[in-house]
Amino acid sequence: MNKLKDLTSPVQYVRGVGPYRSKLLARLGINTLRDALFYLPYRYEDRRTIKKIAQLKPEESTTVMGKILKINVKNINNYKKPGLTILELMISDGTGILTAKWFNQPYLEKTFKVKDEVILYGLAKPNYWMSALEMLNPEYEILAGDELSGLANLHIGRIVPIYKITEGLSQRQMRGLMDSILISAIPCITDPIPPDIVQRKGLPDLKESLQKVHFPTSELSLTELNQGESIYHKRLVFNELFIFQTGIALMKNPNSKNKGISFSPTFQYINRLLQNLPFELTKAQKRVFEEVLRDMRASSPMNRLIQGDVGSGKTIVALLAILACIESGYQAVLMAPTEILAEQHYQNILNLLGSISIKTELLTGSRKINNRKKSIETITMDKAELVVGTHALIQESVSFENLGLVVIDEQHRFGVMQRASLKKKGVNPDTIVMTATPIPRTLALTLYGDLDYSVIDELPPGRTPVKTVLLDKGRQNYRFKFIEEELQRGGQVYIVYPLIEESEKMDLDSAIKGHEEIKKKYPQLSVGLVHGRLKAEERQSIMDKFKEGLIKILVSTTVIEVGVDVPNAGLMIIMNAERFGLAQLHQLRGRVGRGNKQSLCLLVPNKINEDARRRLEVIAKTTNGFSIAEEDLKIRGQGEFFGTKQSGMPDFKITNLLRDAKILEEARKEAFSFVEKNQTLANYPQLKESLQNFWGNRIDLFKVG
Ligand code: ADP
Ligand code: MG
Repeated sequence: MNKLKDLTSPVQYVRGVGPYRSKLLARLGINTLRDALFYLPYRYEDRRTIKKIAQLKPEESTTVMGKILKINVKNINNYKKPGLTILELMISDGTGILTAKWFNQPYLEKTFKVKDEVILYGLAKPNYWMSALEMLNPEYEILAGDELSGLANLHIGRIVPIYKITEGLSQRQMRGLMDSILISAIPCITDPIPPDIVQRKGLPDLKESLQKVHFPTSELSLTELNQGESIYHKRLVFNELFIFQTGIALMKNPNSKNKGISFSPTFQYINRLLQNLPFELTKAQKRVFEEVLRDMRASSPMNRLIQGDVGSGKTIVALLAILACIESGYQAVLMAPTEILAEQHYQNILNLLGSISIKTELLTGSRKINNRKKSIETITMDKAELVVGTHALIQESVSFENLGLVVIDEQHRFGVMQRASLKKKGVNPDTIVMTATPIPRTLALTLYGDLDYSVIDELPPGRTPVKTVLLDKGRQNYRFKFIEEELQRGGQVYIVYPLIEESEKMDLDSAIKGHEEIKKKYPQLSVGLVHGRLKAEERQSIMDKFKEGLIKILVSTTVIEVGVDVPNAGLMIIMNAERFGLAQLHQLRGRVGRGNKQSLCLLVPNKINEDARRRLEVIAKTTNGFSIAEEDLKIRGQGEFFGTKQSGMPDFKITNLLRDAKILEEARKEAFSFVEKNQTLANYPQLKESLQNFWGNRIDLFKVG
């Protein structure tokens, strides 16, 4: 029986793998043939020709090969270096002698034997004592007899792949395993990309590409390989992105016959709201509202992303759309990621509406059950016209009579699934999602390709950019001076502590301690503390008092990160600032600078290394959310940046969005025009399967087949 019939077959059955090694591979995430195919080397080593020891230059990273002459283990135990073990190898290739040293890895002693042939890869350093070169902690491989006969093989005389490995598995074994797995796996793969696209784009054969990416042939450019930019890498990236974009295209257009609601707003509420506003809409706000109106009047469902930097005034645009919906006789819902924000939207909206009577409900997880029951019933019975809430809105017991518009604020905090579940509460309702976490503009369209895109690219007039200062250790007590200045001019202060899930308890403690400290320092002032563990009513009452100016200093965890709006607050102090991401810092900072006076943000790091300093300096010198996002993406990498886990975005195995932006665009074009002609993918079973694989259970959104 053939146990290796397709890509889902376990690697265990490949010759030479077996149960023990397959466990090791599983630690690397390699369970099936498919996993192995897409487990790419993270770098390549040039062993086409190997440098002679005599030709080595200091400060050069190279590969050398030689015979072990001597093995030394030194135990050093003095006050400077207690308990240091050094393993020293001396190797020779006939042209010279090189020393290799490993620190505190005593088990290596058993790895090497005198007369073994070894390959070392590392940085050659001058050793002044011996006026010779040495390598510290080089990567190593012990050669078995067969390479030495000069036979072409996996490990030498070629460009060799270097994989991430795990304890118990050497590079050399890994390479051998990958070689035998690929022999079984490659014949099983069928190209999911439609053949005419492959031909038109002149893409290299998929099987060949996989082969070459793992075991490149000697004519390939080492630099291109190492940067993941060989034509074979690009082919694999194209495949991944084509599948990704096909999913998006299907999601955007699951069935073009899908009919939505054609709203016909009367403008009775809209005009009243506009008249009552204490300000004019900015040009950008007007333009975006026009775009929204156009979509709402049309008969196909709106799916629009509104992007705008922190403070650009997205809420009011959303509210106008909500009114347009209600005027047309439908219900609207506004979902926010945190209770504080939902509560605040609710309050703000009531204020803005003033005498315009719209039946508005608030629904969050921690509102008392009684209250909650009541609002659930009201929604069902079609009494509420607008419901504001958190993801509590998604629960099954909540249903609407005739939901027309779904607005999701700070949408990056929600997953694709959550978005979809809320939409399912109506029949093809119009949807607006809003975000202030600016995805670099070039990526936004492609990534959120299932959405149309509006940007509020203008801040309301009279805003003064927030000044941001990094307070190093030693200057940190200046923060009290700034607090006093802010209070003197009648302003208010936020002091924010990070709250990171993994260390929640400790973080909460430091916020509580910070609160105590401030209370002691300013006993005559009213100082508030908010965090996620408080009851909704309690939190609400503290936030209200802060908003009314009764509380002067508000200590909080990151619960205030998004959306909170208290224009009189002119100083924000961010404690342990090194623990926040850039986008998060920018969001936080956006809580001040909402009035027209100069506001200040102090970044107070606790422990800071070079990396953290670099990030904090980006924040200190840049106020443009888009540039910050781009920096953030560079620094943190895409997995972290897009928060793939929570956001429901798929994980890319091969693609690097910064490097591969161009391929992303090409893939998008191809995928969209392909889907237009092939709505059901009926003739493309292979592509369908790849979509399933890539998107997992999110695929049911697409109604494919
Ligand atoms: P964000 O886009 O960050 O969600 P908000 O909608 O919370 O921003 O608006 C930020 C602040 O700016 C609010 O206090 C709001 O009332 C105010 N605002 C919005 N639009 C304007 C405008 N056109 N002119 C002046 N102030 C505005
Ligand atoms: Mg907002």
